[in-house]
Amino acid sequence: MTAQNEEAESNIGLPTNYSPLELEKEIREFWIKNQIRAKLELKEKNAKGLLGYVEGPPTLNGIPHIGHARGRVMKDIRYRWKTMQGYYMPFWAGWDCQGLPVELEVEKLLGVKNKRELLERIGQERFIEECKKAIMRYHQMWLEADTNLGVFINQEKAYWTYKDEYIEREWQILKRAWEQNLLEEGHYVVAYCPGCQTSLSSAEVGYEGSYKEVEDPSLYFKFKISGSKNEFFLVWTTMPFTIITDTMLAVQPTAEYVKVKVGEEIWIMVRQRVEPVMAELAITKYQVTGSMLGKSLEGTAYDYPLKDIIPKQAELETKHSLVHKVIGEDFVDVNTATGVVHLSPGNGEDDFWAAQRRGVPIFAPFDDEVKFTKDAGTFTGVFARDTDFLVVEELRNRNAFVKVAMVKHEYPTCWRSHHKLVWLARKEYFLRTDKVNSKVLEAAEKIEYFFEEPKNRFLGFLKEGKPWCISRERIWGTPLPIWTCEKCGNKRLIASKKELIENAQEAIPENFELHKPWVDRITLKCEKCSGTMRREDFVLDTWHNSGASPYARFTDEEVEKFVPTDFLTEGIDQTRGWANSLLLEYVILTGKPTGPYKAFLFQGLTQDAKGRKMSKSLGNVVETNKLLEKNSADLCRFYMMRKCSPIDFMNFDMQELNRRPYQVLSTLYHLSRFFLQNATFDEFNPKKYTLDWAFKANQLQAVDLWLLSKLQEKIEDYTNKLERCEFNVAVAVLDDFVIETLSRLYVPMIRKELWTDEPETLERRQTIYALLHHALKTVTLLFNPVTPYLSEALYQKVYRQLEPKLPESVNLASWPVPNEKIRNKTLEAQFEILLKTVSIAYAARQQGKLKRRWPLSKAIVVAPEKTLEVLKHLESLFLELTNVKAAEYTAQIPEYVGGENWVSSQEGDITVFVSGQRDETLLGEGIMRDLARRVQALRKEMGFVPTDVLESVHIAELEDESMTLLEPYLEEMAGLVRSRKVYLHGSRGEVEAEWHESELDGKRIYLNIH
Ligand SMILES: [Zn+2]
Ligand SMILES: [Zn+2]
Repeated sequence: MTAQNEEAESNIGLPTNYSPLELEKEIREFWIKNQIRAKLELKEKNAKGLLGYVEGPPTLNGIPHIGHARGRVMKDIRYRWKTMQGYYMPFWAGWDCQGLPVELEVEKLLGVKNKRELLERIGQERFIEECKKAIMRYHQMWLEADTNLGVFINQEKAYWTYKDEYIEREWQILKRAWEQNLLEEGHYVVAYCPGCQTSLSSAEVGYEGSYKEVEDPSLYFKFKISGSKNEFFLVWTTMPFTIITDTMLAVQPTAEYVKVKVGEEIWIMVRQRVEPVMAELAITKYQVTGSMLGKSLEGTAYDYPLKDIIPKQAELETKHSLVHKVIGEDFVDVNTATGVVHLSPGNGEDDFWAAQRRGVPIFAPFDDEVKFTKDAGTFTGVFARDTDFLVVEELRNRNAFVKVAMVKHEYPTCWRSHHKLVWLARKEYFLRTDKVNSKVLEAAEKIEYFFEEPKNRFLGFLKEGKPWCISRERIWGTPLPIWTCEKCGNKRLIASKKELIENAQEAIPENFELHKPWVDRITLKCEKCSGTMRREDFVLDTWHNSGASPYARFTDEEVEKFVPTDFLTEGIDQTRGWANSLLLEYVILTGKPTGPYKAFLFQGLTQDAKGRKMSKSLGNVVETNKLLEKNSADLCRFYMMRKCSPIDFMNFDMQELNRRPYQVLSTLYHLSRFFLQNATFDEFNPKKYTLDWAFKANQLQAVDLWLLSKLQEKIEDYTNKLERCEFNVAVAVLDDFVIETLSRLYVPMIRKELWTDEPETLERRQTIYALLHHALKTVTLLFNPVTPYLSEALYQKVYRQLEPKLPESVNLASWPVPNEKIRNKTLEAQFEILLKTVSIAYAARQQGKLKRRWPLSKAIVVAPEKTLEVLKHLESLFLELTNVKAAEYTAQIPEYVGGENWVSSQEGDITVFVSGQRDETLLGEGIMRDLARRVQALRKEMGFVPTDVLESVHIAELEDESMTLLEPYLEEMAGLVRSRKVYLHGSRGEVEAEWHESELDGKRIYLNIH
């Protein structure tokens, strides 16, 4: 490059190539140095409205991956766009810090296998410190990911779910529940994870991916009817260990049961299952000998076979008359197994309620590791599920065994540790959300979900309306703030640190915080009997912790302003998670059928390129920080939004980043550069040459008016699609405008007008600049939510370069609004006809194998009168775009087009004929124009500005025929490419020069300019 060119280059701040990584680094520094994020916070005062927001806090127990990134970009889009519209939104971060996921992560780090070992070897105090350290390590990675991704969330105002001030407000929600009698202690059957040693909520049981195929014994066994010689009930189970806690049998009262004679024995079962069960047992010789209604079996006693090795079972019979008897229950399913079910109220929900209703004692001899206690006799100390085959053997020894086989079935496992869950009757604390379910549903119905499918999934889940088990037998969590009197059983709920300090029996030490073990050391004096009150040894479900955020993360004043929030978005897996707990807690807090959010977008999950779930074991997890080391954040953001609907499962394919996304962003970059280069040359002043000026100066042509009209349509369309969360459609609107409208149509139509520097055409050039300025700047602003780096770079380097008084950052600029006055639907319709006809003309060329760059002498358009009117009106564009010299318009096909000299194509009622003959003069001109375009590109590439006049252009190694055809046009070409002279050479060797490779019709040619 010559010195002069270097200077030309430095006139504009946009480098020749679009290098997003470098650009992003520079913009990141710009944002930090100029505190742009902080300046956005100041906009609350003059905001046109407040839009509440509360961050769905990521759990700090894992590395941020591309699925997280996708969700965070959706949030950021909303924030940037709404801010530009003039709203204020508290886009403040939040971190989920406590609970099982964090505990398990830290247990793994510490090399601890279970809770007992944890308590013995590590101790609670150190464990809590380790949990805090662990979340801080992950927090660093999340900060880095947000920074690199360009997520403009306010990190300084982040909330942390483990901080005392947050916990106190969470306690206040519990207090509201307590006052409404919605928080109770109860002995219920809950799902329990033996690995994590804690109970789970029913929401967690249904969590994504928790059902796994497992193998269990399928056992048929028989209980003998007391006092009979040879009559038995035939029963089936996949959990033989529950026979240890068996207390009753149940039948369907309205169904017909039969006696089946098998060998010397009579087995009782439901009639409709006789054949399939006998087939399964491979019994061919049997006979039905009698029948009865289920109801008539009620009260029948049976001999529980294991009384000798479980003495407690014998004792139970003395406690209640229904123990080891048959009862009737409607929940008994007569379409599976034998229609006789054994009930273990200590291990099953239906069983439990059946016993509760009748006052039958609950037998649940399990410790925290789900091992049997001494009440289970011989089985003492054995893990429940490990007794399955011991039980089978004992039944065999006592003539109670029929058959066992292994069966594969779907069974719920712990969503964290994947241990098989066990249902156990335990003493737990429950939020009686079942009592407020109608309010919850009413609230949920009022919320906007944008898409039908996730809405139905969410409402369907909420309809289950079960009580919420919120107590967890863990350590790192919000302590359940209930103290119970040792003497009289009186209970008290404490809702703040102050209240706790005031009521403590002893002074509270310095390092006190609202966590175990410190909070457990505080005892209170009972108001009723002066006895000592101790805290119930539970922490809260972590979903309760994060679900408190709309209240707990704000002050009272902020709650007034920002809740219910305007819009939230999280993954589809949060239907049972955060979206649910937010709603339940808010209904409890307010007592009203209102949600804490007005709209909720559930996002689809992100998978790998092959559509597989990302997992550590497959090694296919795309980590955000690693990805962004070598890839542009803008490209990732654009790609993730463009690829599919936000609710779709997305297959993230890194190969695709540099295809369409790169093409679109790079095109916008180069169009902006093209505009700036030309505008700078002509000293374009956007304050002087405005759109208004162009209208008044009467300089606008049809193509300009069409561009303006299209742009208004796109602004409206894009904004509406963002509002509907159809991000993929919205981005496609911009994509189309940049590539098709601007780059493929508008710029080629006006480009030639910018090649000159004649003073007579200066006004026309300024008009084009005004138009490009308006269109490109608008697109830059519209792109900001999706590609904030590129938008900021163009805003700074193009628009603030031309107009230094513009707001400091693109984020402080105003969102474009469509101007209805310059919308011209008639003109748009005319252009549609024009562009359609042009594409038919291209098809006709293809028929005749006539390259688009070959000028042709004539085209004939056969179409209805209305279409022809439009084409005549836009004739110069039509000729230009189709590259023909003249056109004829007619309603009837002329007779003379029958011969071989014409080729045609038809679509609908439009037919286009083009002359199929090569015309040597026109061909020469065609080659010339083609080469001129390549020289123009090279000029730009080398940094020449339009006014630079080249000394000479050399073209080498064209085909002989092309050289002959071209000869008469060399002078015209020199004018077009702004060179004193153009030379042709048979071979490169003829001149000593730096040659640039190019091609013409698939043949390599060489260019030199200087
Ligand atoms: Zn678990
Ligand atoms: Zn008391």
